Amino acid sequence: MTQTASATPTVPNRPAQGTSALVLVSHSRPLAEAVAALARQMTGDAVDIVCAAGAGDNGETLGTDAVAIAQAIESVDRPAGVVVLMDLGSALLSADLALELIPPEVRVNVRLTGCAFVEGAVAAAASASAGANAETIIREAANALMPKAAHLGEDTDGTAVLQASGDQPYDASGEATIPDPNGLHARPAARLVALAGTFDAEIFISDITRGAGPVQASSLVALSTLGSRGNDRLQVSARGPQANDAVKAMLQLIGGLTGADEISAPAVAPGSGVAQTSSRAVPVAPGVAFGPAVYFERTIPQVPTWKTEDTAAEIARLKRALSGARKSIGASSAGRTGSDIFVVQIALLRDPALVQRAEMLIASDHCNAAAAWQRAVTEAAEVYAQLDDPYLKAREADVHDAGRTVLRFLLGSEQAQLPKGAPCILIADDLAPSEAAQLDPAQFLGVIDRRGGPTSHAAILLRAAGIPSVAGAASLVPVEGARMAGLDGATGEVWVDPDAATQERVEQRRAAWRAARKAAAQDASGKVATRDGREIELWANVAGIADARAARQAGAVGIGLLRTEMLFLDRSEAPGEDEQVETLRGIFDIFVGYPIVVRTLDAGGDKQLPYLAMESEANPYLGVRGVRLCLERSELFETQFRAILRAGQGHDVRIMIPMIAEAPEIEQTRVVLDRAHQALVKAKVPHLWPVPLGTMIEVPAAALLAERLAAQTDFFSIGTNDLTQYVLAAERGHPHLGRYADAAHPAVLRMVQEVVEAGKTAGRPVSVCGEAAADPMTAALLVGLGVTRLSMGAASLGGIRQAMRKFSFAALEAAAHDALSKADAAGARVGLQSLI
Ligand code: PEP
Ligand code: MG
Repeated sequence: MTQTASATPTVPNRPAQGTSALVLVSHSRPLAEAVAALARQMTGDAVDIVCAAGAGDNGETLGTDAVAIAQAIESVDRPAGVVVLMDLGSALLSADLALELIPPEVRVNVRLTGCAFVEGAVAAAASASAGANAETIIREAANALMPKAAHLGEDTDGTAVLQASGDQPYDASGEATIPDPNGLHARPAARLVALAGTFDAEIFISDITRGAGPVQASSLVALSTLGSRGNDRLQVSARGPQANDAVKAMLQLIGGLTGADEISAPAVAPGSGVAQTSSRAVPVAPGVAFGPAVYFERTIPQVPTWKTEDTAAEIARLKRALSGARKSIGASSAGRTGSDIFVVQIALLRDPALVQRAEMLIASDHCNAAAAWQRAVTEAAEVYAQLDDPYLKAREADVHDAGRTVLRFLLGSEQAQLPKGAPCILIADDLAPSEAAQLDPAQFLGVIDRRGGPTSHAAILLRAAGIPSVAGAASLVPVEGARMAGLDGATGEVWVDPDAATQERVEQRRAAWRAARKAAAQDASGKVATRDGREIELWANVAGIADARAARQAGAVGIGLLRTEMLFLDRSEAPGEDEQVETLRGIFDIFVGYPIVVRTLDAGGDKQLPYLAMESEANPYLGVRGVRLCLERSELFETQFRAILRAGQGHDVRIMIPMIAEAPEIEQTRVVLDRAHQALVKAKVPHLWPVPLGTMIEVPAAALLAERLAAQTDFFSIGTNDLTQYVLAAERGHPHLGRYADAAHPAVLRMVQEVVEAGKTAGRPVSVCGEAAADPMTAALLVGLGVTRLSMGAASLGGIRQAMRKFSFAALEAAAHDALSKADAAGARVGLQSLI
């Protein structure tokens, strides 16, 4: 059935209610009808295809009309789904608007797809007529361009390299959902790109939810064009000798992108809660600053353009410059907070969308390397600039920044110099991440960026450096000539050459802010007492050097959980003993003199290691994970023990075993640990010995038998994340089961009580290192149950410190006791309300 909906669509017959329907949205009515006719050649009348095309009374003028689209959708509404295909530009906007015009019960059946209009419509119709569901139809439509892309990929269009190339079948394929609510933004995408590069396989990714792709997984720009958000389902396909391993590893990484390990701050600076108004800039980093205004002038290198005959020599020059730029970025960012930001830039400098494009411009247009590179960078930056997602849009600045670094190598020009001299307020125009990274807080009291925004990498670095900053201040600050300037990075207020009274007020505000900051810094104590004097130790959860630094600064008096998975993930083989020693030493050195609890490898479950060729499992969380896996692969376990013992020499290191369910697992672990010690003794390698061995309580069986386990263990640490999922039989991170992921549930609290009692009887310390320790209300209940050591991410330490001071232990004990008999987690917390 083909109908055309202009302003007044007619209701078609519905011959196939069990079959999904298609709505074709186009600027041109004849175009939509022709495409519908093409599609119907595949399907006959088996699929409802409606056109919502053209504008004006009869759809005769070029344009799209949201009302007509809404009517067209409603005319074919059905539970089997309505798939909407659009041609270009405002078609998408009108379709989006149409979704707002239709009733919610119709909207739930509708899926928009960004597939190619003609090829997609034909493929979608064929798929719908075969009875496919809307998701499959969208996937088919998205793949419809692949045969064409095989040719275009070799051709002259710079964006063609973004598409999957080749029409050969894939050797392996699989799907995963992105748990990170921010979606596939630059840093996770850069991790995917880096991982893709470790396999001998061509890897492609499509966003099934959005009907976008497939694109090359080796291209950061291409991945960004997918526009993938949290909960999107991605398909990874690969061909080549390591296709299977590659798909497995990529899916594993995607499934593990929770965003939990991101250093980025929220879109609006912490504590601000202030939207941009015409008289305010965008808050970026909190704090008040005032001082002489200094403008940052970036000299843009002039890029010479000429025609070259020796294209091979120019390509070689470009390659040398790229390699030099990558090394320089890597060297200047190594080990610092925010180094993952520069990983994004390094990935960009390997990105085929940039590199192949520039090489192609040299080879086919005979451009010199610098001019070709400049053009490729401008094109890639434009791709980002056009994206809707603010996180992805902000990556335009990274492309320009990384691009400039390469130009410096090509042209031999200097890096932009920051102004030198007395303390000042820096006024910049789109500060680049590489520039923000060089700012010394002692000289740069504050930053006012006339452009930029809170999600830029420069903003993240400014927050990490603690430099009060605002962005988007173009209308508030003159292009030149300001002499004195001030800002409040929490509220977005900006003052330029204020009168004396205002200046005094701003300076008072700055003094108050500095005093508060100093008090908070002095307060970075790792021990906190409740109002009635119950002392609680605050330790930190750490997964790398940057975390460890942040944790020390935030006052943690120990590392309660060093997750060692970071050493094993995103690679194609297990790390060697020496490499592990080096990484661990780097972290231990930051916590010299403090206790450090190193958790042994907790792979399996959601953390698959492709190089271990683990068997696929129906329920990986109930499968061979944690200590079960390590005992199966005891050589891996022993190597890790040797590395921990070697690196631990001279430190207060303790070892902790994840996923213990019963005592024999601890006994078997001790056998492997002893073997590691003996091997080091034999080889005369200095190492830490003896070493305390602790048990992580994550499995209900271990909690219930804690009294038995106490005889074999030196300490307990409760992993409430896993314990909660196992007690409530609700997979952690499951999109529909979020309400169960709450450790304040009385059933979980009872387990905690069990372990605390067992620890008390046997004289074994009990800490909590799951997320519950970082949630003030749940942590309060844990303390009420007798827990005296809480371990959490550095960012949560301040909040927990403050919260604990507000409570009295006696009241917490009573509230926790009551909580044990409540019906659910919400009920368990009720008793705390009156205590705050
Ligand atoms: C836990 O399960 O609570 C825990 C801390 O371990 P992870 O989150 O690393 O599984
Ligand atoms: Mg766990």
